[in-house]
Amino acid sequence: MSEEETTNINESIIKCPACGIEGIAKSIMKEIEIPHFGNVLETTILCENCGFKHSDIISLEQNDPARYTLEICKDTLSTRVVRSQSATVSIPEIGVKVEPGPKSEGYVTNVEGILTRFEGAVKTALKMFEDAQSQKNAKATLAEIQELIKGNGTATLIIDDPFGQSNIVSDDVIISEIPSEELKDLKTGFSHIEDRS
Ligand SMILES: [Zn+2]
Repeated sequence: MSEEETTNINESIIKCPACGIEGIAKSIMKEIEIPHFGNVLETTILCENCGFKHSDIISLEQNDPARYTLEICKDTLSTRVVRSQSATVSIPEIGVKVEPGPKSEGYVTNVEGILTRFEGAVKTALKMFEDAQSQKNAKATLAEIQELIKGNGTATLIIDDPFGQSNIVSDDVIISEIPSEELKDLKTGFSHIEDRS
């Protein structure tokens, strides 16, 4: 994050959207300039009372729908990734996908950070689904993600953003249109792990 420059910070105390108590939650809005990408607005809401935390990143420019594709490998783990709240993130070879939903967050991370988030989601799934088939699938997925984090093997990172506000900040990124058939079907449901069976 060292290259990024925060140009403007605005803090205020607001009503907590979760517990509803007036004047308790802190709202922090930061304008951040990301090299080779532009200005984004990062909003964080924190409530001391109930522990509610939500953060979001929005690009200050409105763009066309876009698909960002990058090969995940040892050399791209540290590549900067901006994921807006409206983006679908997937790694088709491993069968994992996170779709936008009411609770989804925008964030700035790197490829390794994306993999770590998927790792966390799969570990959660391992606790939630106890049948043998789900356990087997989730463990296989987890092992594949962990190999990629170690820099072993390759896979494809795809970010589909209907508002074009995400980005993968790399000369190697391929930016393309989202095929209209797929754009129509881009979900706004809850985050989930794709069924591999
Ligand atoms: Zn609260």
